[in-house]
Amino acid sequence: MRQLIAGNWKMHGRLADVQGFAQAVRTATRHTDLLICPPFTLIDRLATALTGSGIAVGGQDCHPAPEGAYTGDISAPMLAEAGAAYVILGHSERRQGHGETNARVAGKVLAAIAAGLTPIVCVGETDEQRDAGEAKDVVRSQLMHSLPEGFAGIIAYEPVWAIGTGRTPTEADVAAMHAAIRAALAARLGEAGKTLKILYGGSVKPGNAASLLALPEVGGALVGGASLKAEDLLAIADAAPRG
Ligand code: PEP
Repeated sequence: MRQLIAGNWKMHGRLADVQGFAQAVRTATRHTDLLICPPFTLIDRLATALTGSGIAVGGQDCHPAPEGAYTGDISAPMLAEAGAAYVILGHSERRQGHGETNARVAGKVLAAIAAGLTPIVCVGETDEQRDAGEAKDVVRSQLMHSLPEGFAGIIAYEPVWAIGTGRTPTEADVAAMHAAIRAALAARLGEAGKTLKILYGGSVKPGNAASLLALPEVGGALVGGASLKAEDLLAIADAAPRG
């Protein structure tokens, strides 16, 4: 299966960046799927600039309701209408900074699926939880409660302490966590859980991508900081094994 390299621009990126970035990524040859999740304001422009390239565009969050009196929120149908095909949900910056619970994430997942979007559900432990030996239990619990029945989408394992810090887990730790996630998905979702893609995220850079992406059960990467430069994102995609 081809790996997916997904860029999360977070609250970065301006209109002036869109054409140059799109031109750089659309002209490169690649053997992975590529996805860029810019801020809401750039989804439409980026999707238009990438038309016909096979590179997908996604949102970074959505509301569980299709519309309503929710000032400042964006719904899944609105994302789809703007040109998004995916949406990142339950990122730790939303779980921590916006108090998002697993139940809330599950509601958003249902909304995303109903709108035809592929949800990318993020899970991962904090430093304290890892030090306390609770990492796998925390991640299993997030999976159990953030994924609705019949979930179809992608999981991103993102240890909170590895995001934007330049620190990554050891290869053995990534492999062990991805195996635990696979087992939990199979237990929760049956056959379907055996094939869902599991991305690794947290300080993936051109220099460490090859070793992380080659690990068993790693189906690609969710990339924050390094996705802002087309050159770095493409170097990460280049480092992925051919599937
Ligand atoms: C992220 O925000 O999803 C992420 C993985 O960030 P970074 O690559 O910068 O650690």
